[in-house]
Amino acid sequence: MREYKLPHKLGEVETQKTDLITDMWYELKKTGKQGDKEKGERVGDNQQKQIKMKNIVIFGAPGSGKGTQSELMIKHYGLGHISTGDVLRSEIKKGTELGKLAASYIDGGNLIPDELMISILANVYDGYGRGHKGVIFDGFPRTIPQAEALKKMLEERGDKVAAMIELDVPEEELMQRLIKRGEESGRADDNEETIKKRLKIYHSQTQPLIEWYKKEGLHHHVNGHGTLEEIFSNIKRVIDSLG
Ligand code: AMP
Repeated sequence: MREYKLPHKLGEVETQKTDLITDMWYELKKTGKQGDKEKGERVGDNQQKQIKMKNIVIFGAPGSGKGTQSELMIKHYGLGHISTGDVLRSEIKKGTELGKLAASYIDGGNLIPDELMISILANVYDGYGRGHKGVIFDGFPRTIPQAEALKKMLEERGDKVAAMIELDVPEEELMQRLIKRGEESGRADDNEETIKKRLKIYHSQTQPLIEWYKKEGLHHHVNGHGTLEEIFSNIKRVIDSLG
């Protein structure tokens, strides 16, 4: 497996990383998941509800329902969707270099290094072209450096995050949901030992983002315990209240 080193040690390692990202970008384009950025195409153009461009960070612990609620948001608002977990799992499935590298972190319940995640994110976001309706960031950011990088990346493009929506689910329920998901989907990282590690990392590295987004004036709390419809109607209330 290719060794990944942080790119402040530039040179060969940086080139390798860039190659990985470029390969992945073309792969995503081939599979039709992304719009053609040269043509300014965007994904999710068949919007139902007309809204001003809104980038939304859907936030919560593993198992909090980010993916499920994202699907409802995509359908209702015609937003684009970037799930960093899905991007990585797709790379693993295809057996790419990036996939092999990602698996070595994911299988142990660890986070992929910030630098790599940030480059992936920027490339996938640019795939939506200009003037899109907004994108849901699902599973990103997971650390404060990632949140800072997201802010900077969007600012450089004249865009911003309109809201961070925190799905709040009791810890015990998270555990039960993830174990059930593991049985149903066979996701390798949904086993008890890895789940515990992921929740621990969530508390130490990801949860501090709640305070970070509060300071940015973008944090919105949503009770993530209830039926899908109840939770989604709380999310809609937040999105519809945005200017
Ligand atoms: P998820 O599907 O969002 O739960 O992500 C599954 C796994 O992918 C995580 O446990 C991490 O190992 C990795 N991952 C996904 N998104 C990120 C991110 N933003 N930063 C670091 N690692 C990530």
